[in-house]
Amino acid sequence: MKIQAINGFKDILPDSVGRWQHIEQRARDIFERFGLQEIRMPILEKTELFVRSIGEATDVVEKEMYTFADKGITMRPEATASIMRAFIEHGLHVQQPVQRLYTIGPMFRHERPQKGRLRQFHQLDAEIIGAVEPRIDAELIAMGQMLLDELGLRVNLELNSLGCPVCRPPFKNRLITFLAQKSDGFCEDCKRRTHTNPLRVLDCKKPACRALVQEAPSLLDALCPECDRHFREVREALETLGIPFHLNRFMVRGLDYYTRTTFEFLTTDLGAQAAVGAGGRYDGLIEQLGGPPLSGIGFAMGLERIALLMEQQDAGKCSQNAMDVCLAALGTNTLAPCSLLAHTLRKQGVKVALDYSGRSLKAQLKQAGRVNARYTLIIGEDEWARGEGILRNMATQEQQPFALTGSPEEQGRRLMDTLLPATP
Ligand code: ATP
Ligand code: MG
Repeated sequence: MKIQAINGFKDILPDSVGRWQHIEQRARDIFERFGLQEIRMPILEKTELFVRSIGEATDVVEKEMYTFADKGITMRPEATASIMRAFIEHGLHVQQPVQRLYTIGPMFRHERPQKGRLRQFHQLDAEIIGAVEPRIDAELIAMGQMLLDELGLRVNLELNSLGCPVCRPPFKNRLITFLAQKSDGFCEDCKRRTHTNPLRVLDCKKPACRALVQEAPSLLDALCPECDRHFREVREALETLGIPFHLNRFMVRGLDYYTRTTFEFLTTDLGAQAAVGAGGRYDGLIEQLGGPPLSGIGFAMGLERIALLMEQQDAGKCSQNAMDVCLAALGTNTLAPCSLLAHTLRKQGVKVALDYSGRSLKAQLKQAGRVNARYTLIIGEDEWARGEGILRNMATQEQQPFALTGSPEEQGRRLMDTLLPATP
């Protein structure tokens, strides 16, 4: 029996890796324009970190974590908790009171695998820690929107506020009263959540639950004056930056640590996997994990969903790795000089394809086409003896003589001079 990958764990093959690299490069480029610095954390953390941050009664902690029960460690289901752990452990705020950080990497959740939902998936994660101003919220959201725009994607931005420890608990009580009255109509999960995590009922996707919560009290009407002002200023700051959004008073994030501003970038093009990215403010989290009383805001985007959406919405073609030149060596005596020329060119920064099979010119030209070579330099025994190869432009099929005189370095520079003007 052949051994296959585990269900929900997927290979990213060379023909789609170009798209992944493109997304990652765009993300790094944009995040760095906003002053974010990369941080990389381990994949395993103490289980307690996630239980204390994400929350015991959340789906992620209740049923989705890969935990090594006997060792008390878990494969990270998301990045924010790990970043906060590292932030506190290394006292990053001491060097710089406002930290702007990002990370890119795999996350693990035991969910039912489907399109855009995997057990190992990848996130782009961005955080601004140590600042509470509403314009920070707007700046971070605008950064996420800029990335999706530059990738050529169409998404909708939805916005909500989840209040704070002052206004949320009394609201929760009112909500529980409302939910308990209508209890019969809710699904089993929501009946349970009414007491463990009542806010979560508001964004249950089941139609019956959705209909029932339409009349539920809204947290947006129950915000305390500080949260109300903060949220108003976030909306104004987004308007200043020209970022369109919709208010969604039913949006509740699946992680407990969120406070105040929460947001999601949504699409209707990926079926049930509607969220391309999501995030929000987590003002009490760092203190709750034993750090200083600093606030923060962040988002995570799913790389698989971005890549799928790019395909679906036909955004930005990502060409495969194209070679600059293919050396077609014909005849055994040309192999040694061609291998030295290829090696020299590669040292000089040129992407070179060369095979040692001594196949026919026709076969080698075909191969040059497969690796998207822009040029093929044909060197047969006659050409080598004459000191003059044939340089073929693969797009126009035009051919010109190419002098094989001087040292390999000189030949390499001459070839680069010939190729460079044609570089787009
Ligand atoms: P969903 O509602 O789709 O389960 P979520 O609220 O659990 O998403 P977050 O924890 O906020 O998602 O993670 C942020 C982003 O990470 C999501 O918007 C999504 O793009 C991606 N993501 C989350 N879980 C998965 C998964 N199992 N497979 C692929 N991508 C995922
Ligand atoms: Mg989820």
